[in-house]
Amino acid sequence: MGLKIWLNDGLVDESEAKVSVFDHGLLYGDGVFEGIRVYGGKIFELKAHIDRLYKSANAIRLKIHKDPEILMENTETTVKANHIEDGYIRLVVTRGVGTLGLNPLVCKESQIIIIAATIQLYPPELYENGLKIISANTMRNHPLSLNPQIKSLNYLNNILAKLEALDRDMLEAVMYNHMGYVAEATGDNVFIVRDGIVYTPPTAAGSLEGITRSIVMKLARECGYEVIERNLTRYDLYAAQEMFLTGTAAEVIGIVEIDGRTIGSGRPGPITRELLTKFEKYTRM
Ligand code: PMP
Repeated sequence: MGLKIWLNDGLVDESEAKVSVFDHGLLYGDGVFEGIRVYGGKIFELKAHIDRLYKSANAIRLKIHKDPEILMENTETTVKANHIEDGYIRLVVTRGVGTLGLNPLVCKESQIIIIAATIQLYPPELYENGLKIISANTMRNHPLSLNPQIKSLNYLNNILAKLEALDRDMLEAVMYNHMGYVAEATGDNVFIVRDGIVYTPPTAAGSLEGITRSIVMKLARECGYEVIERNLTRYDLYAAQEMFLTGTAAEVIGIVEIDGRTIGSGRPGPITRELLTKFEKYTRM
């Protein structure tokens, strides 16, 4: 039996969960989404994800015809219906059915899709050994074109950078902004450690305001580390003693090489490992 998918106002079988070929989510990538984790049957940081979804929707003038509280209930219902203990939720809101033109105003009703399933994480040995990554040539979207803080259905910018990584047999790439500062990875936020201080670029440098990012910043401060949001250059990454990425799917993963430069000892550093352990504990509280 397939999954139960939430489609607008109720659950349907996976085989019935279909959207129109005229949906502008498909035709133009016109829509917003969230990826959310379930740990031990509990939805992790649901409120924060729902808040960000509505902010993204507002930024693209997409009306979600439902109160956030109801959408939260619908998400809970979908997780329960699929008996998900540890899993991943994809919550998508598309502009809805329109015509073969750009005009979003002809789309009468946005479409809500909630999929609760599992996620393929990086294999455990990568958390142990760390990830090797590259710098992408593809620049992160300019904030005056499509602001990276909007979690939109159009991920082509990130996909092009991801392809650069895959072409070199790597799984992630760091993207830089129009001024040459680190923005984020293709699906994760970037952190470095230098002299015991934890640095991450400000979201204004062109990154999503990651929910994992803010939790890791909070946990790092609780551990007694200073955490500074500061513009970082490519050189700052090369000179880092530790580097790690954070994201809903990746959680906290150490980076041991970038562009052929070894980071620190070539193994995930002590602060990275400490924060991963803290984060794992936090998610299972
Ligand atoms: N940046 C991008 C581009 C993302 O898609 C994501 C989410 N996968 C993140 C950062 C991390 O955000 P979060 O911790 O909220 O998942």
